[in-house]
Amino acid sequence: MNGKTKVAIVGGGTGGLCLAHGLSRAGFQVAVYERSRTRAERLQGYRVHIAPIGSAALRECLSPEEWARFLATTGESKGVFGFVDQRMRELAVLDEPPSADPAAAHHSASRISLHQVLSSGLNGILWYDKEFVRYETGPKEVGLHFADGTTAEADLVIGADGANSRVRAQLLPEAKRVDTGIRTIIGKYPLTAETRGLLPERLATAPTYVLPPAGCGMFTAPHEFPEASENDESAALDPVLFDNTGSYVMWSYGARAHRFPADLSELDVPGLRALMLERVRGWHPAFGTLVEGSLEPTVAMLPISTSVPMDGWQTGPVTLLGDAVHSMTPFRGIGANIALRDAQVLCRNLSRSGDVRAAVAAYEREMRTYAYRAVRDSARAADQFVSESRFARALSRSMITAMGAGLKVRRRVRGVR
Ligand SMILES: Cc1cc2nc3c(=O)[nH]c(=O)nc-3n(C[C@H](O)[C@H](O)[C@H](O)COP(=O)(O)OP(=O)(O)OC[C@H]3O[C@@H](n4cnc5c(N)ncnc54)[C@H](O)[C@@H]3O)c2cc1C
Repeated sequence: MNGKTKVAIVGGGTGGLCLAHGLSRAGFQVAVYERSRTRAERLQGYRVHIAPIGSAALRECLSPEEWARFLATTGESKGVFGFVDQRMRELAVLDEPPSADPAAAHHSASRISLHQVLSSGLNGILWYDKEFVRYETGPKEVGLHFADGTTAEADLVIGADGANSRVRAQLLPEAKRVDTGIRTIIGKYPLTAETRGLLPERLATAPTYVLPPAGCGMFTAPHEFPEASENDESAALDPVLFDNTGSYVMWSYGARAHRFPADLSELDVPGLRALMLERVRGWHPAFGTLVEGSLEPTVAMLPISTSVPMDGWQTGPVTLLGDAVHSMTPFRGIGANIALRDAQVLCRNLSRSGDVRAAVAAYEREMRTYAYRAVRDSARAADQFVSESRFARALSRSMITAMGAGLKVRRRVRGVR
C-alpha cells in the first residue's frame, strides 16, 4: 500500500466519490475536487438501477456504516421486470430470484440519495466549488488549475468529471462523443395513496419495457421508498438532502429525432406533455395517466449521445474513470454501475501494487474491455428501443415472448422438483 501517494480526483459524482471512499480507506492521501458550490446544489435526478456489479463495488469501497446507509436509502421492488406491448399485453416477465446477499443483489436507488450517501464521511477530502480547468505534468507531480485561480498538486490525477470531461479533452483530444440521433422525453409520476390506484399493478410495482410495433419505445420503473421506522437508518437521514420524500414511477419515451417536431429542444413542459399525450394516444390509457400526472419540473427532453471506443493510449500520471471515458446511452441502465466497477478495479489495483503506473495500466486495460463492451451493448439497446423496422420489432417481440415462455416453463419444472 502506498500511503504517501497523493491522488486527486476531479469530479465528485458516482464513480469519483466511490473511488475516494475506497482509496482513503486504503490509506492514500486523497482529494476530490467538485465544481458544485455546495453539497445540496444539483439535487435532482432519477431512479438509478444498481445491478450486482455496482452493489459489489459499493460494498468493497464503502465502510460497513456507509454501506448500511446506502441499503437504508434504496427503494423496494414488489414486482418483476416485464415486457408489454403498447396495449399492456404481457410479452414476458423475467422472474430472477432475488439474491439473499445485498452485495450481489439489484437495488433501486434514488440518484439524489446515492449521491448524498457517497458524499458523506469525506471531511477534509471532498472540496466543493473547485471547477477544474486544466492540468500540467511536471517532472514529479501533476499540477491542477481551478477556475477560482487556485492550484493543487498530485502524483496521480483521475478524471471522473462526467460525460463532458475537461480532463479527457486535454488527455485524449482525439476521443469522440457522438449524437445517436435519439431523443427521449422523461418524467416522474408521484405514487400516493390517491394516484397509485389510477395505474395498473404492473406499472405501479415493477420495471416495465414497452414495445410498440415500431419507431419508439418506453421504459417505466417505480421507485418505492421503504416505510421508515424509528430504528431504521433512513429515519435519521436529512429529508432535504435525502430523497425520501415520496415514491414515484419514472418513465422515459424514446424515438429518432425525425419522429419529433423540429423545434423539440425549444418545447416547454406543457409542450412536451402535449406531445407525449399525442404519442401515447391509442395505447393503454395508463400511459396517458402517467404522462398527465407527472410532476411539472420532472418532465424534460434528453438528447442521447455515446462515446466512441478507443484502441488504447499511453499510460501516464493522469487517467479517466466513468462517463469521462466511456459515456454510454442509458438504454441498458448500466453507466453508473460501470463507473462504480471502475472505482473498484482501480482502487484494488492501486492498493495491491507498489507501482502506481503499473496499477493504472492494468486498470486501463481491464476497463477498456468491460466498459467498451457496455458502450457497444448500450448503443445496440438504443437502436433496438427505437427500431423503425416492424419486422425487427415483431421478431424481438416473439423472441421475448418465447424467452418468457421458457422462463415460465423452467420455473414450473423447478417447482415440481
Ligand atoms: C436519464 C438517465 C437515467 C440513467 N439511469 C441509469 C441507471 O438506471 N443505472 C445506471 O447504472 N446508470 C444510469 N444512468 C447513467 C449514470 O447516471 C452515469 O453513467 C453515471 O452517473 C456516471 O457517473 P460518473 O461518476 O462517471 O459521472 P457523474 O455522476 O456525471 O459525475 C461527474 C461529476 O463531475 C463533476 N464535474 C464536471 N465537470 C467538472 C469540472 N470541470 N470540475 C470539477 N467537477 C466537475 C460534476 O459536477 C459531477 O459531480 C442514467 C443516465 C441518465 C441520463
